[in-house]
Amino acid sequence: MSTSDPSASIPLIGEPVMPVVDQHIVKPDQPIVGKVHATRLCTDSRKASGFVRHIEIDVSNTPLAGTWISGQSFGVIPPGLTEHGVSHKLRLYSIAAPSDGETGDGNIITTCVKRVLDEDWDSHKLLNGVCSNYMCDLNVGDEITLTGPVGKRFVLPKNPLDHDYVFIATGTGIAPFRGMIMDLIQASGTHDLSSKVALLMGVPYETDLLYHDTLLHWTKQFENFTYHTAISRHTTPDQPKKMYVQDRLVDDFHLLSPMLINKRTLIYICGMAGMELGVFQTLAKLLPPDQLPQFLKIDPEIASDIDHWERKMIPKKIKKSKRVFLEVY
Ligand code: FAD
Repeated sequence: MSTSDPSASIPLIGEPVMPVVDQHIVKPDQPIVGKVHATRLCTDSRKASGFVRHIEIDVSNTPLAGTWISGQSFGVIPPGLTEHGVSHKLRLYSIAAPSDGETGDGNIITTCVKRVLDEDWDSHKLLNGVCSNYMCDLNVGDEITLTGPVGKRFVLPKNPLDHDYVFIATGTGIAPFRGMIMDLIQASGTHDLSSKVALLMGVPYETDLLYHDTLLHWTKQFENFTYHTAISRHTTPDQPKKMYVQDRLVDDFHLLSPMLINKRTLIYICGMAGMELGVFQTLAKLLPPDQLPQFLKIDPEIASDIDHWERKMIPKKIKKSKRVFLEVY
């Protein structure tokens, strides 16, 4: 290791012990059929810039029941064939339910799905994302073909209450954090959360804030839970400038830094592909040089030129430590 490497002499204290996680219990060649148990918009009103639905699926009496933990995903195989006459490929959706499911018996798996809508630049025809629109069109009682669970790293540690958490989400990236926070609430079993949890949530418009009422309710219920929103395309009375989630990290750093200095704290990032670069750049600017290696190990070659970092430098030149968890799509 180079002597100029600031992390060389700093032991990584607080590395989490991760659980052994089962995955691929239901494989794509033998999927199960679940039934939609509930479906509702989880953006605020019709003014939201996108449509996101909270969808609960009953998987009781199937091999998927009781198999997942929060943070994992499940697979959906949309019906029908592609334009090439073959079956659609499976799409993954993050589980938004706690580990024992929405009703506590491992039978109801949940996600939140954003309708993918796009326009073909040449033909100016509307392109509807196959699986997201199929799922959002489903009604209660409709059948849906599922696989999973998938993912073994983006989960809570084995002893979750040994740690504090900074959760950073954009859009539907909130899904795993809803489940994880519900697990932490359940594990705490007291009037407050035993772990400190700060949730940073970035969306384009205020009306796109997902699960907003639940999250606001938790801020009132749990002293150890804080919720920090970042609206990127307009200002609000509470937020006089437009902000991405990493700008919120800057503005609220005075509130978050005691957590980030604490060796108990883990950082989880989930949402739009590319968001991790801005978050990593911001952490590199905010954290003192002796503190940064607890989360990120930066190649000395690029350490002084943070503003010119590019996503392709992850993970070779910008390496996350075992205290950082990333799921972007
Ligand atoms: P697709 O049909 O796959 O379309 C995708 C893109 O291709 C669109 O941008 C569309 O414009 C373009 N396209 C479509 N048809 C054409 C065409 N004929 N010609 C040219 N271009 C076309 N999503 C969520 O909403 N919630 C989640 O919780 C979630 N969790 C995820 C977790 C993981 C680990 C991963 C990997 C992904 C997750 N996703 C989640 C994303 C999800 O898996 C899908 O990618 C997403 O829903 C889009 O799928 P789709 O079938 O609707 O779109």
